[in-house]
Amino acid sequence: MDSLRRLEEIFAHFPGIGPRQARRFVHYLQGRPTTQVAELVRLINEVKADTTECSRCHRYFIANELGLNEPGAKKSGTTCSICANTERDQGTLMIVARDSDLESIEKSGAYKGLYFVLGGTVPILDKEPEKKIRLKSLLEHINKFSVAENNTGTLKEIILSLNTTPDGEHTTDIVKDAIKKILAGDDINTVNSESPKMTILGRGLSTGAELEYADSETIKNALGNRR
Ligand SMILES: [Zn+2]
Repeated sequence: MDSLRRLEEIFAHFPGIGPRQARRFVHYLQGRPTTQVAELVRLINEVKADTTECSRCHRYFIANELGLNEPGAKKSGTTCSICANTERDQGTLMIVARDSDLESIEKSGAYKGLYFVLGGTVPILDKEPEKKIRLKSLLEHINKFSVAENNTGTLKEIILSLNTTPDGEHTTDIVKDAIKKILAGDDINTVNSESPKMTILGRGLSTGAELEYADSETIKNALGNRR
């Protein structure tokens, strides 16, 4: 395959981009001055080199956020500024599908707890959810933080904040069942009273809504109406 087709294929894998848009991107780049394309390539490399995945919530963040000023500086096992902020409510964990959802919720200013980013959703009929989302590491995370840890408080509430699209709702069911199972042992009908309660982002978000595009007021309402 020639480089033109390969580039088209790469763009076509971007979220929300189809083959026709991918082709338009390539044509657009072909028409740009060499310096502009070089700048684009340099920035892509720089962002990638500076990006770290938070060891707790798994969101991606730029290492400079932590004052690691060396370009490309990385500290393995490091936590992002949200997870490291002890003023946030350590007893509430919100589960979101993607970094962009987390950003929308942060922008609304309505939530002060912690997060866990699943890294995607599970399509209906998919038989291997573990390959699509960070389910295993979520369950380990909950196991670890549902018990008191150096008096930092126990996990009291888990809020499932996924899109109200079919894939989002399907993922909510998978995650909810998996969490219930680990909280209750083998019998999912006897969640003990000290277990964190599980809530789902409420109405206000209409069916089919995508969090990424919801405005702050809608997110505030949905948080207030969680059930
Ligand atoms: Zn984090």
